[in-house]
Amino acid sequence: LNRRLAEFGTTIFAEMSALALRTGSINLGQGFPDTDGPEEIREAAVRALRDGRGNQYPPGPGVPELRAAVVDHQRRRYGLTFDPDTEVLVTAGATEAIAAALLGLLEPGDEVVALEPYYDSYAACIAMAGGTRVPVTLRPSEGSGEGGGDRRFRLDLDELRDAVTDRTRLLLINTPHNPTGTVLTRQELTAIAELAVERDLLVVTDEVYEHLVFDDAEHLPLASFPGMRERTVTIGSAGKTFSFTGWKVGWVTAAPALVAAVRSAKQYLTYVASGPFQYAVAEALSLPDSYFEEFRADMRAKRELLAGGLEQAGFKVFRPAGTYFITTDIRPLGESDGFAFCRSLPERCGVVAIPNAVFYDHREHGAPFVRFAFCKRTEVLADAAARLKSLT
Ligand code: PMP
Ligand code: GLN
Repeated sequence: LNRRLAEFGTTIFAEMSALALRTGSINLGQGFPDTDGPEEIREAAVRALRDGRGNQYPPGPGVPELRAAVVDHQRRRYGLTFDPDTEVLVTAGATEAIAAALLGLLEPGDEVVALEPYYDSYAACIAMAGGTRVPVTLRPSEGSGEGGGDRRFRLDLDELRDAVTDRTRLLLINTPHNPTGTVLTRQELTAIAELAVERDLLVVTDEVYEHLVFDDAEHLPLASFPGMRERTVTIGSAGKTFSFTGWKVGWVTAAPALVAAVRSAKQYLTYVASGPFQYAVAEALSLPDSYFEEFRADMRAKRELLAGGLEQAGFKVFRPAGTYFITTDIRPLGESDGFAFCRSLPERCGVVAIPNAVFYDHREHGAPFVRFAFCKRTEVLADAAARLKSLT
């Protein structure tokens, strides 16, 4: 293994899912739903397969139907307009979009400012591209609400400013944010946009959880802020929005020169992927608003169920404004090492979770935090909550 990758080892998701299987535990670690997406969209995939659409290499930028559906979705929801021929690229999930964006845009030695904790592929892909990561740590804050109502992880705008140097090439943003569940506010995004314009930076923004926002939170795409349309690479995915994480259909929207750069890398990674599924996802993106509303309401109820269970079990809960993850602080349980806690949890109560420390360069900042996924059936979450309660 080369030096660039040596520090990364096996992804925590593979490790923890294997642990769940081995111990017969409830897997609230890796974020994938235990119920597949809509029947009619599965049927659309079957039809595409049967009718011979996408069984051979699809076009490099993605099938026209899907590119049109992505454009329509961005216009309908956010009022953003893109040219389906030059400003959209279909990828093998958001994972490939992240890799191709970094490989296509970074020069060796370029610095990438990213919000810490960060999704684990960011660090590895920055390393593969020869870049240097510069983490800006999101800080836990209690907020002013009753009972931890607006407790969240916050972006310190001064720290963000201070992280930018003459070597900074791009900002790597993620909202709604995995693993903290933070949805960046209009004020935070405005500051990011102003900084990007002032320092002439590119922004890669991972918005795969765009449809998973709760209560008063609103997902605002960075590309919609002043000066950002031309400098922002936006990444989306069907895995999270439609509960088909195995299909690996993602996409990039950006100005033509940026899409061309991402495509240059992408064509030598997979070239193309997921032919028939691209047609099905085109139909999924065109589902009526009611689909998205019901999905969100369903996930909100699941969030409440698991958050309540975790609170009763004694965890301090950061109720997420977005994503399907709950970050908790384990210190009220008399624990302080999330790694040790997660390794012992299957034996102690038959539940698997993810130690947030893996998403930090400054591991000490992440040590007491543990992430639980709630994209699971109600009875599974209820069972997990009961098991966790037996901890105390
Ligand atoms: N970005 C974030 C923040 C994620 O949580 C994930 C995985 N769930 C991905 C990207 C990867 O998405 P995909 O499965 O579409 O590759
Ligand atoms: N994104 C999912 C998570 O955060 C897992 C994806 C993966 O296994 N790489 O849990």
